[in-house]
Amino acid sequence: MPTHDVVALSPEPPRDCPLCPRLVAYREQNRAQHPDWWNGPAPSFGDLEARLLVLGLAPGRQGANRTSRPFTGDYAGVLLYETLIKFGFATGRYEARADDGLELVACMVSNAVRCAPPGNKPETSEETTCRRFLTARLAALPRLKVIVTLGDVSRRNALRALGLKASAGVAGHGSEFQAGPYTILNSYHCSRLNTNTGRLTTPMFEAVFRRARELVDS
Ligand code: SF4
Repeated sequence: MPTHDVVALSPEPPRDCPLCPRLVAYREQNRAQHPDWWNGPAPSFGDLEARLLVLGLAPGRQGANRTSRPFTGDYAGVLLYETLIKFGFATGRYEARADDGLELVACMVSNAVRCAPPGNKPETSEETTCRRFLTARLAALPRLKVIVTLGDVSRRNALRALGLKASAGVAGHGSEFQAGPYTILNSYHCSRLNTNTGRLTTPMFEAVFRRARELVDS
């Protein structure tokens, strides 16, 4: 079986996934500069019985690319994981390390693009190439009910992974719509830029996860 078919069947890419040349080159560059970092596709983190999937766009260079766990080690993880703990989707303490003991409960966190892109911006072709893993990831979560997308690009990637048009959903923070068997809730990304500028406040972010909790429990 060709390599492409092997990886296409898996919800998680291999550590040395070769499919995006630009991201592979960036990975090699980071490995040379920081051999102690993870420097590979960031595996999804969480519960295989997840009823909630939180979907970001791509790992940060010094976040998941360094620590191996999505949203771990960079600023965005603080608000995300503290909110997941508050609404019962995680237990333990978030300490910005992959070995901090934090556990997700009926929840998984992943990214639409698994490798860190230069400048935090994946190219459209890289989103398309990596979508096979998102599609397989969704298919391998039999109890999944709700997808929280962090940002509009993540939202569009989730729709495409479900075989829908990117225009099928509703843009903007707090939007909610049905996409096949799942409810998609969209949030502004919990980035430092969005929180520092007040575009996203803690109450706004918590409102999305309060609604996710209601939907998961209904
Ligand atoms: S972004 Fe996805 S498809 Fe591209 S190299 Fe990384 S794991 Fe492979």
